[in-house]
Amino acid sequence: MSAFCTYIENELEDLRSKDLFRQIRTLDSLPAPTVSDGKRELINFSSNDYLGLANSDDLKEAAKAAIDEYGAGAGSARLICGTQRIHTDLEEALAEFKGTEAALAFNTGYATAAGCITALLSRKDVLIIDKLVHACIVDAARQAGCHLRVYRHNDLNDLEKKLQWANKKHPDARTLIATESVFSMDGDIAPLLNIVELKENYGAWLMVDEAHGTGLFGEHRRGVIEEYKLSDRVEIQMATLGKAIGASGGAIFGSRSLIDLLINHARSFIYSTAPTPASVAAAKKGVEILQGTEGEKRRQRLWAMVDNLKNTFIDSGQSPGIVRSPIVPLICGSSESALSRSEQLYDSGILVPAIRYPTVARNQARLRFTITADHTLDHLAQLEAALSTPEDDE
Ligand SMILES: *Cc1c(COP(=O)(O)O)cnc(C)c1O
Repeated sequence: MSAFCTYIENELEDLRSKDLFRQIRTLDSLPAPTVSDGKRELINFSSNDYLGLANSDDLKEAAKAAIDEYGAGAGSARLICGTQRIHTDLEEALAEFKGTEAALAFNTGYATAAGCITALLSRKDVLIIDKLVHACIVDAARQAGCHLRVYRHNDLNDLEKKLQWANKKHPDARTLIATESVFSMDGDIAPLLNIVELKENYGAWLMVDEAHGTGLFGEHRRGVIEEYKLSDRVEIQMATLGKAIGASGGAIFGSRSLIDLLINHARSFIYSTAPTPASVAAAKKGVEILQGTEGEKRRQRLWAMVDNLKNTFIDSGQSPGIVRSPIVPLICGSSESALSRSEQLYDSGILVPAIRYPTVARNQARLRFTITADHTLDHLAQLEAALSTPEDDE
């Protein structure tokens, strides 16, 4: 075997021996609460399509109409000739939805964080992040080459220490704090009011990734920032368009000048073909529905299902967290135990993946349950039956 093949095989064997090997699972069906992988029907407890919009006729029709009007692909990057009317329409709708001066859409949430953070921070600047932020923010810090400090999850004392360190060691640097509002793997919520007060005291800036808050929290469903009445005090808001909004992509929301700077400096925006008309039109329709009575109905259904899911867990002897969010983790500990629990649930017709290192800490492997507005009490009854199946004796 060549050195190349040996290297690859050894790496894969290493992952397998640690129960960290990942495989793609192909589904034959729509992103609905029940899916099929060609072998069996499964109730899906792992989708981020919280309001069930990805599979709604409204979004599908909007995407089809955009294909007829604008084509299947955008043809080039946004700054060359890839900005079609539908792109600017989406950005206007996004800014209006969040109540900010302007918004900028990116191909993915991942590209959004990367483009924004590298546009704002240089090597001499400081980024301070919560220990549990999404990989896209960590990777953005690496790309920016800036000084990086990590504070313990939601720990304000530790955050303050890192701010003091930044002010002392890098007094002339820009300092940016980045956190999620609803944490993607734990479903808990950042103490945003305290974080805003700290960043104001220390002259830092704040970026909040509302991937899992947008569409679900706040009076106008803008997110946790709105719920905590902090819209005017957060410099950079981020959302993904592929979760509650039901389409795909990501966006930054803020002042007109922030957006102008990103258009000029965000490399993932500049050097990438514009999002497809279909995904842009679907996102625009998703944002529109979110804000109407249909969106509110779906949100009410979602919260009712969240409460029911928690009761299902409590009834089967688990203790889910007290925060109300559609992400409910069941911590298993080792990768092996998360994997075997996930496989066992699969055999009972439940789709919930084992989330393992490096997505979460090594001893924090878990089943990450998510629930959507389209789940029913019957789905939960089947989950409860599956959860109460005794674990295999080893
Ligand atoms: C999903 C997610 C992203 C990435 O968004 P994509 O559109 O899937 O690339 C970024 N941040 C958080 C917190 C997420 O959960």
